[in-house]
Amino acid sequence: MTTVTVHCPRCDPDDVYRQDFSPTKHERLRCQSCRRVFQLNYTYQAWKPGLKEHIVDMTFNGAGVGDTARTLKVGINTVIPTLKISRPRG
Ligand SMILES: [Zn+2]
Repeated sequence: MTTVTVHCPRCDPDDVYRQDFSPTKHERLRCQSCRRVFQLNYTYQAWKPGLKEHIVDMTFNGAGVGDTARTLKVGINTVIPTLKISRPRG
């Protein structure tokens, strides 16, 4: 039997416990420190935490919208609104 240590994606301690299952049968976990619920696997890759920052980083490094969508396995309609929202003001 193997043991997998799961860390909270927001505050990083490993004191998490199983909350329940999502309607799509993915396991949901709750962190005891920050009391937030998160999943390890998502049905849609666009729901993963940190994906928006990854899209902005790839754009700053010269990747196009299509390149970013193919690499991250999300739709173009996820990439374009993310870039419109993260546009600097001024
Ligand atoms: Zn936490």
